Amino acid sequence: MRARIVNGLLSLSSRMGLYHAARFASPNLLTVLNYHRVDDPHVPGFDTLKVNVSATPSDFARQMDYVRKHYSAINCETLISFLKGEADLPPRAALITFDDGYYDNYSNAFPILAERNLPAVIFLATGFIDGSASFYWDYVSYCFYHTAKRKASLPLLGECAWEDEPSRERLLLRWIEAVKRIPETQKNEYVSRIGAALEVDVPAQAFENLHLNWDQVRAMSRSGLIEFGSHTVTHPILTRIPVEQAAYEILESRKRIEEETGRAVRALAYPNGGRADFSEPVMQAARDAGIEVAFSLLPGPTRYSTAGKNALSIRRIFLAHYDTFPRFLAKINGLSRLS
Ligand SMILES: [Zn+2]
Repeated sequence: MRARIVNGLLSLSSRMGLYHAARFASPNLLTVLNYHRVDDPHVPGFDTLKVNVSATPSDFARQMDYVRKHYSAINCETLISFLKGEADLPPRAALITFDDGYYDNYSNAFPILAERNLPAVIFLATGFIDGSASFYWDYVSYCFYHTAKRKASLPLLGECAWEDEPSRERLLLRWIEAVKRIPETQKNEYVSRIGAALEVDVPAQAFENLHLNWDQVRAMSRSGLIEFGSHTVTHPILTRIPVEQAAYEILESRKRIEEETGRAVRALAYPNGGRADFSEPVMQAARDAGIEVAFSLLPGPTRYSTAGKNALSIRRIFLAHYDTFPRFLAKINGLSRLS
């Protein structure tokens, strides 16, 4: 009910042009958009984590039209120059970012960006590029979507039952939230027990072509429009592993991308990106690994005047495929605590 009232108000405000008014009053805000996947999670047979889809291709195209019309899209290089005090930002600067490195960034998002000449940065978890290993959340989703069972004893949650699609989806998300709290060293063990608990055999090729390969990364890099940043090698939450290992994860992924693309990597996006998912020691490890700008998922935007001293914790606006267009407008115009 509350969601309906909020959506109604958002829709009314957008029709009245209130967001435009709010934004033009404050041109000195850095808006960093965060996408993960651009795809249609509603097609039959979609069997990986749906909440990781940030927009359908048609919604993404509409959102990019809006960004092109109302913002100055910048690339990461420009942002780094600004943070170092070497350049100014244009009014209403926007940076478009993607996390993880899914194939749909190449097949669906890249053509839409190229058509509009919009730059973007993709943060790669390099251990998943060019391979058929999946992120644990996609593996777990696959098991939930393919099980014939309606009840099971699940690791971490115990006896659970689900009678329809929405209740299965809620349980899947609950399980993913529960495993996020498990120490990184034990996470895989819990994840690997899900297949047996749900009686699903996951075929070796289940996740083929889910992620980018290096040829696709190079093709986008050569276009001059897409930059690449580090999202670590194995996507651990960096505050949950020893700091030396965090340093290795950042440096190793940075070096790999540089080797594959021939271009310098100076940007990092923290896995998970919440307040507890990066820390002063992690930021120092990033600095030591040659990182000059790092992004969280704390809601933005950021004032130009404060961006310089927060170069290793730049805020972003997390977008999801279930955002209506009025909600997208509200989020990128500063009401981004709506998530
Ligand atoms: Zn990620």
